[in-house]
Amino acid sequence: MQPAYDDRLVKRLTEIAIQEWAKTAMTKMHVKVDLEACQGHGLCYFAAEALYEIRDSDGRAIVILDPVPDELRGAARKSAEVCPERAITIIEE
Ligand code: SF4
Repeated sequence: MQPAYDDRLVKRLTEIAIQEWAKTAMTKMHVKVDLEACQGHGLCYFAAEALYEIRDSDGRAIVILDPVPDELRGAARKSAEVCPERAITIIEE
C-alpha cells in the first residue's frame, strides 16, 4: 500500500521550515522612512501603530522602534505595503 504522502517531501519541507524560522530568529529587521517621499498619509501608522509616530509639524512618519520587535515584523511589512508613496523600506540583516 502506498503511503498517503512522500516521506522525503515531508522531511525536506520540515528542513526548509526550520531554515526559514532560523533565518527570521537570527536576523534583525529595521524600518526606514524616506522623509522626502513621505506625504503624511498616516496609513503606515494605522498598519503598525507601535512602530511609528506621526510628526506634529508636517504629519510625516517617524520610526520609533528600531530594530523591529519580532512580534511586529508582520505589521512592519504590512505598513510598507500600504504606503502609497513607497516611502518605507524594510531592511533585514
Ligand atoms: S503611509 Fe507612507 S507616505 Fe503615508 S505617512 Fe506613512 S510613510 Fe508617509
